[in-house]
Amino acid sequence: MPVMRNYRVTGPVEVPEGILAAMTRRMISHRSAEFRGLFTDVVKRLEPLFGTSGTVLPLTCSGTGGMEAAVASVLRPGERVLVVELGYFGERFAEIAAHHGAHVDVVRAPWGQVVAARDIASRLAEHAYAAVLLTHNETSTGVIAPLREWAAAIRAVSDCLIVVDVVSSLGAAEIAFDELGLDVAVGVTQKALACPPGLALVAVSDRALERAARPGGRSYYLDLAKAAEHARLGTTTYTPALPIVHALDAALRAVEDEGLEQVWRRHAHTARRCREAVRAQGLTVVPPEEHCSPTVTAVRLPSPDAERVRDELATRHDVWVSSGRGGWKSEVLRVGHMGPVPVAEAEACAEAIGACAREAGAAAEVGAAAEAGTAAEVGTATEPSAGR
Ligand code: PLP
Repeated sequence: MPVMRNYRVTGPVEVPEGILAAMTRRMISHRSAEFRGLFTDVVKRLEPLFGTSGTVLPLTCSGTGGMEAAVASVLRPGERVLVVELGYFGERFAEIAAHHGAHVDVVRAPWGQVVAARDIASRLAEHAYAAVLLTHNETSTGVIAPLREWAAAIRAVSDCLIVVDVVSSLGAAEIAFDELGLDVAVGVTQKALACPPGLALVAVSDRALERAARPGGRSYYLDLAKAAEHARLGTTTYTPALPIVHALDAALRAVEDEGLEQVWRRHAHTARRCREAVRAQGLTVVPPEEHCSPTVTAVRLPSPDAERVRDELATRHDVWVSSGRGGWKSEVLRVGHMGPVPVAEAEACAEAIGACAREAGAAAEVGAAAEAGTAAEVGTATEPSAGR
């Protein structure tokens, strides 16, 4: 029986047929009444995903573009920001802020862990910060941050803007934007919403928009104040990635049909079953259970064979996963379970990783034994002469 492709990368994810098909709807002008109807409707239906009744702005760019739009719009050079880094994407947020001239301070956790809320609060108490930049779900480490706890701790000590990367949590976990007093949250289409890439989805508070409206914004194209002005008129500042707006319309329909809270529960359930399956293979899920992400499972392999295991997974099992980032490249694989992923596929992926890791381990042992054997032979041959 042919093995089915099991595409468990961390995004862009596989897109269901109905959503793909929506991209072939005919093109319309973004200044037309028809577009205004579509855009206004899609934006309204994004609100529950963020937990806001305020402004949501689809921008034509990837998630990094959304992060840059946030920073370039609400900050001005010399303003001080605190970046809470849990991994690679937190580092990127700090780089973007520095690129736009912010004075960047960082509080970080070792990869696979979170920064305690009290540590964020005590750092914020040290200076007058314009903003704190957070990552809700750190895709590089498979960690979801305790956003509610963080936001409460931040709000207790500071009225700085809270800017959050929700790229890999939007549509998979609650954001509660209004309730937590967040100011900017940056999501995307191509992860838990199971849409193609092309739009950053950015929720913005009124006070963040006031900051963005100050003179000296750092980006012409990625200007949240201009985007908000146009959104009020039911359109975008520039030509949008229209096929993705159509796809998003279909993706939101799928979420609405299933029920948003059920979609969140499903992601949590699939992730839990994936972790159980990983552990049943004798492998380690890197973060502690209470910080494990609903969309990404980071698996530590027993030996540094991650690239070899990943190749074997693809070529022999048609299972596709993401490699570890940075220092985790040789030891960690990341399994994505974003969007409507059947539990059986997540489990089958874990089983395939177990099988390939065992084979790689056995091959490594044989290799090591052979090398030791060669060394022993060389030793036997040379030792006597050396001893004489
Ligand atoms: N932030 C997080 C948490 C991500 O996972 C990613 C991409 O995987 C990004 C930001 C960057 O998004 P993009 O690749 O769409 O620019």
